[in-house]
Amino acid sequence: MSGLNTSLTCILCPMSCVLELTVEDGRVIQLSGNNCKLGPTYAEKEMINPTRTLTTTVEIEGARIARLPVKTQGEIPKSMILECIRDIGRIKVKAPIRRGEVVLENVAGTGINVIATRDLS
Ligand code: SF4
Repeated sequence: MSGLNTSLTCILCPMSCVLELTVEDGRVIQLSGNNCKLGPTYAEKEMINPTRTLTTTVEIEGARIARLPVKTQGEIPKSMILECIRDIGRIKVKAPIRRGEVVLENVAGTGINVIATRDLS
């Protein structure tokens, strides 16, 4: 069989199945090792357009702790993670902040906002 053989670990649940796959022309044409039907969907997406939700912290002024936990409101392309971290690293917010409040719009031009994940005053 032609195509590239590779493997990756499915991270959708704690089972962490090791997926063995054959990829041809950017498509997964054969797959094994998955313990549920989510594995093929994950593998296909991971090969074509891998994305992640980014969680980190930003500096906050006037709060009882120095950093506010934040996350991207949706998934960003995996290839953009470093640019997003740089962009987020440049901001400083002011207390009080409410959970879910947008602290940065359109991070690194991805179209995705960054939101606070907790209240902080
Ligand atoms: S293939 Fe299914 S069972 Fe295995 S890690 Fe992914 S989601 Fe979990």
